[in-house]
Amino acid sequence: MPSTECEEEFEILQSIYKEIVIEPDKPNGESLVSMLLFPATGDDTELRYVKLTLEFLLGRDYPESLPKIIFRNPRGLSEDQLEILLQDLVKSSQEMIGSPMLFQLIDTVKDFLTTNNRPASECPICLMSFTDFDVFYTPSCYHHFHSRCLGIHLQNIVDTYNETNEVKLSSEAIEKLCPVCRLGLDPAIDIDKLKAAPSPSPSEELIGEVEVPSEWVENRDKLKELYDKQKKQGGIINMKYVT
Ligand SMILES: [Zn+2]
Ligand SMILES: [Zn+2]
Repeated sequence: MPSTECEEEFEILQSIYKEIVIEPDKPNGESLVSMLLFPATGDDTELRYVKLTLEFLLGRDYPESLPKIIFRNPRGLSEDQLEILLQDLVKSSQEMIGSPMLFQLIDTVKDFLTTNNRPASECPICLMSFTDFDVFYTPSCYHHFHSRCLGIHLQNIVDTYNETNEVKLSSEAIEKLCPVCRLGLDPAIDIDKLKAAPSPSPSEELIGEVEVPSEWVENRDKLKELYDKQKKQGGIINMKYVT
């Protein structure tokens, strides 16, 4: 059971955040608090590019002990950003030990998401980082893609379907999925518009001499095998579209 002080904190959090989930009766007397957080973009949800489910696992003696902080399903944030955020939260929690601290920690994460509301992860198709000049597309699963990369990928899905099936279908009638998590994309997604977006610009770290690590060379045969297998199954982007 959480302490009375802790129960009071839960009540306050629930009155502020309707969407917060609090499970006070976990094994070992622990409590789990979790909340899906977005950057503050007012009512304009289309301008949200990052999100994160923040979890706190609280021991029986919280706030005399530090909460365990867990990030679930972060989207649009790089490993480095998550590491910096976690260190910041741990430092703040150490400073607030002995007093209720969850509101403050949640607020820190919300601020962080608002400041970093731009995909810092890589485009899963071309593996290049997003730059300020890139045009990108965000499905509802928050896996970001360069618009052009996604357009080329989807065009290939449509072309492959129509090349391998007797009955030809329109682009809208063919199921289109997020290439990362396979969540259904908007069937009416405008492939031509995506393809017309500019090609991704190489990020600064890629400009200049590129040294190929020796492990990459060693892995080449293995990857070639995988490439051939994927190509056979129609999973490789048609290189003729890539410029
Ligand atoms: Zn890309
Ligand atoms: Zn996805």
